[in-house]
Amino acid sequence: MMTKPAFDLVFRNAVTRASTAAVDIGVTDGRIAAIAPRLACEAVEIDLGGRLVLSGFVDTHIHLDKACLLGRCGHDHGSVSEAIAAVAAMKRDFTVEDVYARGARVIERAIVHGTTRMRTHVEIDPRIGLRGFAAIKALKRDYAWALDLSICVFPQEGLTNDPGAEELLIAALRDGADLIGGCPYMDTDPNAHIEKLFDLAQAFDVDVDLHLDFDLDPSWWHLDEVCRQTERRNYQGRVAIGHASKLSALPPKQFDAAAARLARAGVAVTVLPATDLYLMGRDATHNSPRGLTAAHRLVEKGVLCSVATNNVLNPFTPFGDASLLRMANLYANVAYAAVSEFDACLDLVTELPARLMNLGDYGIAPGNPADIIVLDTTSGRNAIAELPDVLMGFKNGRQVFERHSPVLFRPE
Ligand SMILES: [Zn+2]
Repeated sequence: MMTKPAFDLVFRNAVTRASTAAVDIGVTDGRIAAIAPRLACEAVEIDLGGRLVLSGFVDTHIHLDKACLLGRCGHDHGSVSEAIAAVAAMKRDFTVEDVYARGARVIERAIVHGTTRMRTHVEIDPRIGLRGFAAIKALKRDYAWALDLSICVFPQEGLTNDPGAEELLIAALRDGADLIGGCPYMDTDPNAHIEKLFDLAQAFDVDVDLHLDFDLDPSWWHLDEVCRQTERRNYQGRVAIGHASKLSALPPKQFDAAAARLARAGVAVTVLPATDLYLMGRDATHNSPRGLTAAHRLVEKGVLCSVATNNVLNPFTPFGDASLLRMANLYANVAYAAVSEFDACLDLVTELPARLMNLGDYGIAPGNPADIIVLDTTSGRNAIAELPDVLMGFKNGRQVFERHSPVLFRPE
């Protein structure tokens, strides 16, 4: 007699983005063990009724350490530099406990919106020292049951112009930081800033994720220098640039040339719709430019891209719920995505950011961790169009949350 395979858990009637018909997904020891229609097996069963499953959303760019600050600043901030100055003033008073509490609030929102992997940018400089970093390391450890957190340390207020910042960055890299970021436009010597970051990245063998630019003037930029350094160091596939709002200001010919340059250098681009929309184009009195780079157009031209959260409830972005599905929907709306491109928009918060972060074990496939979220819809296209609820989520095969559908009470 044939014995049925035993799984710890089996999802029945799941729609994956790769399958045209519903499949079953068997999970053993926290990993996906089998994917097939009507798996004959002994296991605890969860019937998904033809709903869409994903491996979770992947947020490549979020600032946990400066999230949830709205109640602390009494005035409005209209520009990038005003927002940076406002946070710089508050940062001196940040304690480990304070950063931890605000970060935990955002992480928990992200978890229940289906995020399973996240890269957070953490400010390191002589004002905050390593306090923010210590809090984020504790969050990484304490929420590992639900989310893989990758820590990108960076000097928000410059490097060559900020004595002590480099030593602190080195200390963080020695003490568990996963990668290094930077902000060349805040440095008095942007090229030296970029050079120094790549030196450190190579010395510690870590990836690079930069805040590249944050304005709409394409007459100057650091994009070429980043591509040049990437190629010089053989760092293709290990470098990402965030915002890159200047790309949104380019006419088609120059846009295509920039895309070709990025693709050739293997430099990825992260677009941050909430912040870019809120802070760009404010000089205009009408017909405002939106400052949002067309990520899905760059993807068509061979550039690896992601759409991410960036800021939540602070002077840079006084909105936010850490939902990447909502962010992809916002992006699709503002970027004029056609319905036929909605799947590409979902890719920007799932498969593509997983590649950007060089996550080799992401996706609904045998052998990968059973990181599985269930959306109350039937396809990737509908996920972007309808903003369905994320009904439940699993990390390494263990359920981490559940959301109940609303119930209508009709009159008798
Ligand atoms: Zn950022």
